[in-house]
Amino acid sequence: LHLFCSAGVSAAEYMKYKDPSQPMNARIKDLMNRMTLDEKIGQMVQIERKVASAEVMKNYFIGSVLSGGGSVPVKQASAESWIDMVNDFQKGSLSTRLGIPMIYGIDAVHGHNNVYKATIFPHNVGLGATRDPQLVKRIGAATALEVRATGIQYVFAPCIAVCRDPRWGRCYESYSEDPKIVQAMTEIVPGLQGDIPADSPKGVPFVAGKKNVAACAKHYVGDGGTTRGINENNTVIDWHGLLSIHMPGYYNSIIKGVSTLMVSYSSLNGKKMHANRDLITGFLKKTLKFRGFVISDWEGIDRITSPAHANYTYSIQAAVSAGVDMIMIPLNYTDFIDGLTYLVKNKAISMSRIDDAVRRILRVKFTMGLFEHPLADYSLVNELGRQEHRDLAREAVRKSLVLLKNGENADEPVLPLPKKAPKILVAGSHADNLGYQCGGWTIEWQGLSGNNLTDGTTILTAIKNTVDPTTKVVYEENPSSDYLKSGNFSYAIVVVGELPYAETFGDNTNLTIPLSGTATIMNVCGSVKCVVIVISGRPVVLQPYVLLVDAFVAAWLPGSEGQGVADVLFGDYGFTGKLPRTWFKTADQLPMNVGDTHYDPLFPFGFGLTTKPV
Ligand code: BGC
Repeated sequence: LHLFCSAGVSAAEYMKYKDPSQPMNARIKDLMNRMTLDEKIGQMVQIERKVASAEVMKNYFIGSVLSGGGSVPVKQASAESWIDMVNDFQKGSLSTRLGIPMIYGIDAVHGHNNVYKATIFPHNVGLGATRDPQLVKRIGAATALEVRATGIQYVFAPCIAVCRDPRWGRCYESYSEDPKIVQAMTEIVPGLQGDIPADSPKGVPFVAGKKNVAACAKHYVGDGGTTRGINENNTVIDWHGLLSIHMPGYYNSIIKGVSTLMVSYSSLNGKKMHANRDLITGFLKKTLKFRGFVISDWEGIDRITSPAHANYTYSIQAAVSAGVDMIMIPLNYTDFIDGLTYLVKNKAISMSRIDDAVRRILRVKFTMGLFEHPLADYSLVNELGRQEHRDLAREAVRKSLVLLKNGENADEPVLPLPKKAPKILVAGSHADNLGYQCGGWTIEWQGLSGNNLTDGTTILTAIKNTVDPTTKVVYEENPSSDYLKSGNFSYAIVVVGELPYAETFGDNTNLTIPLSGTATIMNVCGSVKCVVIVISGRPVVLQPYVLLVDAFVAAWLPGSEGQGVADVLFGDYGFTGKLPRTWFKTADQLPMNVGDTHYDPLFPFGFGLTTKPV
């Protein structure tokens, strides 16, 4: 035994970084002292699930894996199968020399929206209408539980974009055009991560425990301010405008301990954000003292050049020296690893920059206890889509609805509707379609999986659940005028809106809803007293129909719990939602935001009629 020890060969060498009783900084320092350049660069790499395997994790020391929006959905319905997949990658990472755990990230942007049977909450625009940060915090906590139920520890949320032009295809990911509302809704950060202790030093990331996830405030910065709302475009703004409109959400997120920030594809005054050293290293890390890690967007560094990937070595240098710590590669990871290795060996990127990146990544991993609990077990699987979360989503739907018109005057309100009526008509393309109700980022990126995409309640089903058993409910998507005349309907509920989209696919210059929808409005409301429910990620052109329609409801993209719509329509609850955005008359007025000198909306920001529960 003596010989064995004195030879310095110890079967159980003391590894300080593995000792949870040591202060975190000492653990990080110890670990970093042991790491080779390859191991460090590996930590900075995030790859897509499609190209990941235990082998790849091990051989390249990969620090993170993601399920990207553009990824083919993982077809397994069960939480257990997700856990098995994540654990398989994790075992690859744990089998490396130093056994540094990987972290798995996913776009859980309105609930755990990539996973079958998860609760789908309203998209952010609807949450902005609730004006209820504590509700949003509870949604964060429920989302964290559902994400952890599948073994995943990291979400690319919240999107704290301040959408200043609804022509932007991501406007529904934004809580509001008003920075104060976006700032208030950063309560989702402690919802997802847990409440940061009061004595925690400012800027330090915080994740409470195994029922929480690391969050990611995105997209830094100015993503919602691009010219004409063109996705990934250029935001032209002065310093004061940037600080007062697009930054406040970041201050709050950082104070609340957000673990990571994602860089925006967009440019700021002509400079690509992924190469913006002043704003990433300078402002974010030095001035705001952000101590978590900065992640790139999907192929975000490739797009520093135009065309994308034109000079990848240059892109790597520009992004890493700007201060990007983790790179969402996400497919051709060897190109990145080779490129960054070359740049470091040739002193084009300093070792201290690499160390800064790795330290930040490890800080998040240590903070959240990944070294102690790298593998997920099945103990939380029943959290996925559980009833309490569906009830919470239903509450959010109720509070998100904005009543835009309720009869010709306050004395003759149309809503709430009577539950008891001989025969009512439900019409419109969106009345019985869960996919349309959930919008983009649901099961797959563009949200085009159709009606049976996951579990939930459509508005039609919700109406049937709510009315008196003697009330006859008839559904006809686009009824003919003869049908309407002979139908003897007491009233009609028409549900129409935008078709699902995500990112650039949603950029839209005219903002009209599909003609089939407006045709249904004109047919039905021309002959029967009608309520029109608009399912959309943003205000759309309604002005031509305002006189014809008896009552208008903006329902945004409510998600899987359509029951919340019926709860309010039939008076079990009152309407309380307020417009989180200016409702324009015509798209050529855009951009038009609250506070503008020329402000002539159809319905102003903050508008919303109320009803009392019956
Ligand atoms: C989006 C991000 C998202 C990422 C990963 C990108 O296209 O801009 O918001 O987090 O994909 O799916």
